[in-house]
Amino acid sequence: MDAGDTARDGMPVLTTLLEIAGTRRCSQAQCSSRHGVGCEYVDRRSRGCATAWCPEHRVVLDGSILCRRHAAVVGALPARASGKLPPPPDVDSRAPSLAGWVARALDTEVRAVIAAELRIEPEEVRSAAVVLSLVGPDRRRAWERGWHAANAAGAELRVTVVVEEAADGEVAMCVDGVECARLRPPWIASRDVGPTDPRRAEFNTALTQALQARLGGAAA
Ligand SMILES: [Zn+2]
Ligand SMILES: [Zn+2]
Repeated sequence: MDAGDTARDGMPVLTTLLEIAGTRRCSQAQCSSRHGVGCEYVDRRSRGCATAWCPEHRVVLDGSILCRRHAAVVGALPARASGKLPPPPDVDSRAPSLAGWVARALDTEVRAVIAAELRIEPEEVRSAAVVLSLVGPDRRRAWERGWHAANAAGAELRVTVVVEEAADGEVAMCVDGVECARLRPPWIASRDVGPTDPRRAEFNTALTQALQARLGGAAA
């Protein structure tokens, strides 16, 4: 058998994957569709995802039908373009999506703190995508999203929001790789924290203040 034999005729194109009707119940709350197709995510232990999604609620990424959580994970895997993929995180890990989510929520504040510290404009602070990193002497797998900036005097700062796979209910704030805070997001500790709950803002503020305290700039 050469590779040609395995090439499938009529391989589904992107639009077909979005439209294809499965037979499973959609996992979206309050969706009554029975045209769900299973999320195709497979983790590094070869475990799959139990959810299924109708055409309206699925995400199609890189030729796969995925749930939203795993689309975020696949989208965050580094070096997708170069083909050098690290082993995908455990199917139930929320580390990549949590790191991305918290970093997005803190973006404006973190830029402001870094800019004040280096005496530059917030727009000069660069941010990167969520990437896999290895932390600690035992090289634990973690997902981080970072900001980096330098000023004309040669001072440099790298700030990261880090979530370890083995502790994916905690978010760490790090400056140049050194942790200055590690907190449990309130919406993970308690299910009754809605999108506008003030505890979300308090959590964001606590992380930003820890960063400010580490940099020694209590007053901005
Ligand atoms: Zn649905
Ligand atoms: Zn999934």
